[in-house]
Amino acid sequence: MKTFPMFLAMAGRRVVIAGGGEQAAQKARLMLKTEAKLVFLAETLEDELAALVASGRAEHHAGGVSVDAFAGAALAFIATGCPGRDAALAGLARAAGVVVNVVDQPGLCDAYTPSIVDRDPLVVAIGTEGAAPVLARQVKTRMEEMLEPRLGDFVAMAGRMREAVARRVPRAGRRAFWRWAFSEAPRRLHASGAEREAASALKQAIAAGGAPDVQGEGLISLVGAGPGARDLLTLRAVQRLQEADVIFYDRLVDPEVLELARRDAERVFVGKEVGACAWPQERIDAVIVAAARKGRRVVRLKSGDPGIFGRATEELAAARAQGVTVEIVPGVTAASAAGAAMGRSLTERGETDRVVFATGTCREGDAAPDWGAICAPGTTLALYMGVRKAGEIEHSLLCAGVPGGSEVEIVCSVSTAQERHVACRLDRLASTVAGQGVKNPAIIFVRHPKPRVEALDAAQPARRLAVAG
Ligand code: SAH
Repeated sequence: MKTFPMFLAMAGRRVVIAGGGEQAAQKARLMLKTEAKLVFLAETLEDELAALVASGRAEHHAGGVSVDAFAGAALAFIATGCPGRDAALAGLARAAGVVVNVVDQPGLCDAYTPSIVDRDPLVVAIGTEGAAPVLARQVKTRMEEMLEPRLGDFVAMAGRMREAVARRVPRAGRRAFWRWAFSEAPRRLHASGAEREAASALKQAIAAGGAPDVQGEGLISLVGAGPGARDLLTLRAVQRLQEADVIFYDRLVDPEVLELARRDAERVFVGKEVGACAWPQERIDAVIVAAARKGRRVVRLKSGDPGIFGRATEELAAARAQGVTVEIVPGVTAASAAGAAMGRSLTERGETDRVVFATGTCREGDAAPDWGAICAPGTTLALYMGVRKAGEIEHSLLCAGVPGGSEVEIVCSVSTAQERHVACRLDRLASTVAGQGVKNPAIIFVRHPKPRVEALDAAQPARRLAVAG
């Protein structure tokens, strides 16, 4: 970051605005949102600014300007409309040790005004370091849509109740209380105009010592993190991450995704990867359940979809055995993302009418899969955890009668900066994986299309007609 966002305390401070025309008025309107005292340095003021002075909200200094005019100000805006004069005034302000913003001259600025979404006391500031003001406005529009117009009043009301909550709601239930307040009935009521009802819902919950139904109750969410890219998470997954008290994640989860979590959420790396578990599954089961039983919101973040080769069954069972509420938040599985990355559908009408998600790495001691059935004609086979078993897979599929010329496409690290695509025939799978240094994580697709039927139809037009009729 070349700039750093901070919220400046403005109550009772002075903001000096050099200029008396429209540019100065724009800055004045912005500063009127604060409780700062405005000071205009200008020969003359346009009517809007003169009215501010008349109302006592601002002061006006006409005549010569020296360093003293800026002394002690929280901020200075230089907006005379004359570039030469602006540069000279910026020099004076800086000599007085004041943070300066000069209209339309980024090179002379110490600070830049962000795009603001104002739900005072909730304020969102958006900046792009001047690189993309249009983007900042787009983000602002999205935020404006997301945050209902009355939200500021609700936040202020919640702020007034903080002390009562601290007194009446035990510490362990406080986060749950505020989560309820900001995402359930109170906020909804307030947003729809029922301000009194919202306030009484809050007061009742405070008197009862916590939010209704959620007092200290833990939850485990098995959340699908998708294949890597953070914009492949679902909105629900992001919401769970932002509400989590603790997040257990493993090796395939991209750090980008973790950035979506609350800053003070605890993050625990459980380091599982194919064939090598830093933490045995039973330990993971035990710690997530123990955390939830303390009333914490637990996210068990898993790559792709938790329900596909994700050991979700063990975690669901462990939670249910202890009576802990557990849910699955689905994610984009690696095969879907890999198909998308290839720009190709996983099913192709008339050719492949089924997709099989299979693993190349079964539990030790399990019977070998029936490869002939898994990859029968008409199948797109998506193999997870197959890289290390490429030789065995190739051999087994060929032995099961899948043609050696079948198309194979391998997509590694899909949706990350390391994404890589490799294509070959089935009877070259092992040599290609070895020769090209194909690395985990990767999805290996094997396409085994149905035999074509056009030739048969062409030879029997009468029969086709008869069927159609
Ligand atoms: N639950 C996950 C799968 C976990 S098993 C899902 O639904 O995607 C781990 C295997 O998933 C890896 O060995 C690899 O085959 C596949 N995989 C996970 N992330 C991947 C990625 N970004 N690119 C390609 N394959 C990936």
